[in-house]
Amino acid sequence: MRLVAGAATDVGRVRQGKPNEDAVLVDDRLHLFAVADGMGGHRAGEVASATALEALRAAIASGRPVPDAIASANSAVFSKAFDDPELRGMGTTITVAVAGDGQAIVVGHVGDSRAYHLHDGELVQITEDHSLVEELVREGRLTPEQASVHPQRSIITRALGVDEQVQVDVYDVDLATGDRVLLCSDGLTSMVRPNDIARILRREDDPTRAAEALVDAANAAGGEDNVTAVVLAASDDAPAEEGAAVATDTPAATTAAAPEDITRATPASAPDAVDTGVVSVVDAVGAHEPRADDALPDEPLPEPIRLAPKGTARRILRVVLWLLPVLVVIAVAIGAVGWYARKAFFVAFDNGRVTLFQGRPGGVLGFNPTVKQRTKLTANDLSPADRADVSAKKRFTDEAKAKRYVAALKSKAAERAAVAATTTTTSAPTVPTAPLNPSGP
Ligand code: MG
Repeated sequence: MRLVAGAATDVGRVRQGKPNEDAVLVDDRLHLFAVADGMGGHRAGEVASATALEALRAAIASGRPVPDAIASANSAVFSKAFDDPELRGMGTTITVAVAGDGQAIVVGHVGDSRAYHLHDGELVQITEDHSLVEELVREGRLTPEQASVHPQRSIITRALGVDEQVQVDVYDVDLATGDRVLLCSDGLTSMVRPNDIARILRREDDPTRAAEALVDAANAAGGEDNVTAVVLAASDDAPAEEGAAVATDTPAATTAAAPEDITRATPASAPDAVDTGVVSVVDAVGAHEPRADDALPDEPLPEPIRLAPKGTARRILRVVLWLLPVLVVIAVAIGAVGWYARKAFFVAFDNGRVTLFQGRPGGVLGFNPTVKQRTKLTANDLSPADRADVSAKKRFTDEAKAKRYVAALKSKAAERAAVAATTTTTSAPTVPTAPLNPSGP
């Protein structure tokens, strides 16, 4: 079996002039294909998706299996977000397909981008969305129809870059000749119904044309989000060799391309254009025979559907919620957000002073942390280890433990001051203070 890939990405109709936060990866040499939908302020969303795909590719290239490679992408985004205040809170979805043994592909997935399988003309969704509304559908509390128009349908419950660990869904999918696999961001699926996606995939034999037609359909329906599609066609016109289930036409073109050439999303300066960088790479590595009737689609474009607009407020809400673990988002759904937001404590620097807060760093849906106790302690009063803990916003589940921790910081600071004074007057060697060891939360 051989996989021929086509890809297209576009900033959409509504966010023109802003960066395309989707990224796409087509690497025929590694038989690796992926989409990522990034999120975060300023240019952070763009950074998140590109970082994830670059790390993914490096991990797959070094022979790691799909879940490990996605975990590695998670670490790359997480540490970049941790190191750079401008990028804090960024995250990204990822949906990956890698050729497996024989006729199979391995699909790895986190977030609400999707993978579909078209077999015998039937479109089946491979992945389950990690989104609030999908969880409510699985619990029987919303119908799929209600979910598709729900105002909070873009809130996701799992993403890369949010936590040090991430749970990855993995699927093995057997392909038959003629099958198609689609990887796409929610900019497609929130604009175009599955039936219409299936119709386009059936109509357009060529993967690149299919990907472009899908992006065009999303834009025709309003283009309210960045939209990305990767179409893989399973073909048998180049028999698989031992150890190479997927043939490549021009592997040199793939290896010569720098990662950023492939993962770069559409530049903001050319929001209308389907990403030429991506498409040229795809064209180079996924060569195809042009159809005789290229100019004449045999079916009219599907009637677009219009769903509720993806406004800035929802975007911000989605970003905020990315900071929360899955259970918290469910708690939001059942109205327990206030309880959740207030039952935690953390110690951090506020205006340079050690401060005890009630709440959670960053707040939860308007429940912002409040100051419980201010101290005069500054970073210079703390040992390096304590300073690091407080800088990282040390968390507690109850107030008493948090207060004991602050008290311990104070007494240690007093000891350190006393030791420093002694050292100054007697020139005695510095006595290292014992490491603070508060009982954990
Ligand atoms: Mg999106």
